[in-house]
Amino acid sequence: MLYIVSTPIGNLKDITLRAIEVLKSVDLIAAEDTRHSAGLCREYGITAPLTSFFEHNERFKADKILAILREGKGVALISDAGTPGISDPGFRLIRLARENGIPITVVPGACAAVAALTLSGLPSDRFAFKGFLPVKSGARRKALAAIRPEEGTAIFYESPHRLLKTLKDIEEVLGDPVIVVTREITKKFEECRQEKASVLAEHFSVHAPKGEFVLLVPGGGGEERA
Ligand code: SAM
Repeated sequence: MLYIVSTPIGNLKDITLRAIEVLKSVDLIAAEDTRHSAGLCREYGITAPLTSFFEHNERFKADKILAILREGKGVALISDAGTPGISDPGFRLIRLARENGIPITVVPGACAAVAALTLSGLPSDRFAFKGFLPVKSGARRKALAAIRPEEGTAIFYESPHRLLKTLKDIEEVLGDPVIVVTREITKKFEECRQEKASVLAEHFSVHAPKGEFVLLVPGGGGEERA
């Protein structure tokens, strides 16, 4: 059985009882960064062996893990934070397991996109998860211009290094809308700011962006549609 297990996005307590139970019971845990996940395992007395499974060895490792699953062993797939496969490795292994008739189950839990959407207070009846915006300015602006308001609230992951550039692009491409920036969800410096993109750019040019960010751009219709 392949178990797709969500882990915390900051606060170590944000893990389900079932996730702990499954991680304790499997023969192998495929983790994005074994050193990072060792901390979580220590916290909960999880002793199953860890093997690395990250973006650049995903294809090669997926075959190896499939062979282990074929022997009838239990493997849990986790990422550094949140839900595997959501802007994280996992999708290829899950598809391969499915194609090969391996039983699969999901142990749902934290996901930064959903946590940010809930926290933002923006309409959540319809939303579009966009992952990370392209790094190159031209492609990023094109991706922003392609946002369709009818898709509802658009959700982006962003790194602190690119936050200011992205806020400037949102201001210029989308006409300076009021957006939401969430930061460090479930952690000590959790923050949620709702302002015009230009105001947020001003704020973060004074207070250097630190930590992990999710940006949310409201879709057409705004709050009335919620
Ligand atoms: N698989 C993860 C999930 O389910 O949310 C996402 C992994 S992705 C590589 C990492 C990005 O998620 C970060 O750059 C940030 O945009 C967002 N993120 C993760 N944890 C976060 C947190 N505690 N607060 C805000 N954003 C977070």
